[in-house]
Amino acid sequence: MILKNKIENNDNIDGYPIINKYKYLGIMINDKMTIQSHIGNIDKKLKKYFEKNYILNKRFFSVKSIMLIFGYFHKSRLLYGLPAFIDQKSKIERIDRVMTTNIKKLLKLPISTNTQRLKLALGLPDLNTYLVQRLIKLKIKYENTFNEKLTMYDETIKKILNIDDISKVRISENYLYNKLKDIGLEENIDINKGFITRLKNRLYSWYVDSDFILLKFMCHRGSFREDINEKCILCGYPENSIEHVVNDCKKLCRERRKTLEELNKIDNTNYKKLLKAIEYHYYSKKYTNGKEEKKSDKKGVKIIKEFLLEMYKKFGAVKKKNDDE
Ligand SMILES: [Zn+2]
Repeated sequence: MILKNKIENNDNIDGYPIINKYKYLGIMINDKMTIQSHIGNIDKKLKKYFEKNYILNKRFFSVKSIMLIFGYFHKSRLLYGLPAFIDQKSKIERIDRVMTTNIKKLLKLPISTNTQRLKLALGLPDLNTYLVQRLIKLKIKYENTFNEKLTMYDETIKKILNIDDISKVRISENYLYNKLKDIGLEENIDINKGFITRLKNRLYSWYVDSDFILLKFMCHRGSFREDINEKCILCGYPENSIEHVVNDCKKLCRERRKTLEELNKIDNTNYKKLLKAIEYHYYSKKYTNGKEEKKSDKKGVKIIKEFLLEMYKKFGAVKKKNDDE
């Protein structure tokens, strides 16, 4: 069998059939050895999957369970074989976009939600980061099993990781952290090293409603957005912003004072502004392996969730009042 474009009026060479695409080990490759048609197939499969599983959107699952299902699904089916095509940058980016869009759909977040913030809040690496780690794992596994060097991806790995010496390549836990830190810098949020470990205590708990609310907040969704409401919908302040609502809005005085006090007490910090205290607690709190730390961690997130629940409830009440009038 020969894989090439049928330009000649010939469908075989010496009896070997000429075809322009071929499914090899589950991956559809075309005559240019790109995965264009494979992505097409993935798109189609995904669409069907999400239509069938629309009910997932209906809040029967927590953020944790939805992400578990998605992880299982994309890791086992969608990303199968993809590390081998990691050098096809634009195609990989396209799959990444498809995946993030679908995560948003599953989590009931609008498609316009800031992707960087979503990735930050969920602790998700970009696809390239995931694939390069996967590729290194496979390379090491191959070399250990067959006792010979696998060099065909060396140049690609070197290029992606921006290194000169392939022999020093390791699977690195810090790599994901560094990637998230980069996104954090763009969003002006300081990511702490323990964040990924602590994430379990933040979004990935079983408290369904407040998890979604926390996620929504961390992705900057809600009535505090200036592009949605020019004025603060709670107090009418002319410059609506997340900073105004969380730090200053007079309609949230009592809740704010209580929350800030409790958060500062747990961490023994002295944050003056609640928004910073929330971000500190969510992203950059110091991490130790001590038991006590874990306990206070959970407590802090509970306090944040309670505040956010009150805030979104107030938004909801105003919206309902406006709808009724
Ligand atoms: Zn206000």
